[in-house]
Amino acid sequence: MRTNYHTHTARCHHASGADADYVEAAIQAGYSVLGFSDHCPWPFKDWFTVPVRMDWDELPGYIQSIRALGEAHKNRLTVLCGLECEYFPQHLSTLKEMTSQVDYLILGQHYDTTADVQAFVGDLPDLASSRKYLDLCVEGLSTGLFSCIAHPDIFLLPFNEFSPELASMSRYLCRAARSMGIPLELNLYGVRKQVRQPWEGYPSGLGYPCPAFWRIAAQEGCTAIIGVDAHTPDALRDPELPLMAAMYLDALGIERVEQLRRGNKL
Ligand SMILES: [Zn+2]
Ligand SMILES: [Zn+2]
Repeated sequence: MRTNYHTHTARCHHASGADADYVEAAIQAGYSVLGFSDHCPWPFKDWFTVPVRMDWDELPGYIQSIRALGEAHKNRLTVLCGLECEYFPQHLSTLKEMTSQVDYLILGQHYDTTADVQAFVGDLPDLASSRKYLDLCVEGLSTGLFSCIAHPDIFLLPFNEFSPELASMSRYLCRAARSMGIPLELNLYGVRKQVRQPWEGYPSGLGYPCPAFWRIAAQEGCTAIIGVDAHTPDALRDPELPLMAAMYLDALGIERVEQLRRGNKL
């Protein structure tokens, strides 16, 4: 069964193609389930001037468009409407409000707002900041609102070497996800961005997916779901990368999850 729950739309300003083109690509590629999970809006305009997400007033149109496509193609493909969201404790009520309107959420914690100023996870300055970031992720997972954690190894971006500290931080996140029965996402956007052979990490610094992280995930008995993280319809047409990802997880002995489940409609 071919599924993908991580798909963006042009609304996030860094993806392209019409919503219908993603659906068409998924049908051609033989998917059974296509879940859209565009970057959710947040109501605080002052903080998020970086245009990497839909505007607040685009949310109803997004949901409407995905629902209409689902209805139109229901005999060929299950189309789900989700969102990729951060967890910001101060906006929990907004998060719950969004949850009630969609099929599922994936936790994509790109920013840490435990400080006054938002910081991109890849720019966090030291281990202490990254630890706080991971605490935020674990707290987010424990709300029970998220069906999986997207690119769980993205917190490794600021570092050059996989140290014992980073190993224990990886273990902390893996254990938390495992204990809550939440799958980790093996993110193929990360692979597509890598310039060397996939799975070997970035030439400088640690990229995602990070092999050292995934070895720990295997030791901790985590489950995993493969996420295309499509920012173009063509990303869904690539048959090779999901296959490589599946072989990679199988070789590590990590159980693959193909369908997301949660207290929603999946
Ligand atoms: Zn993401
Ligand atoms: Zn994404």
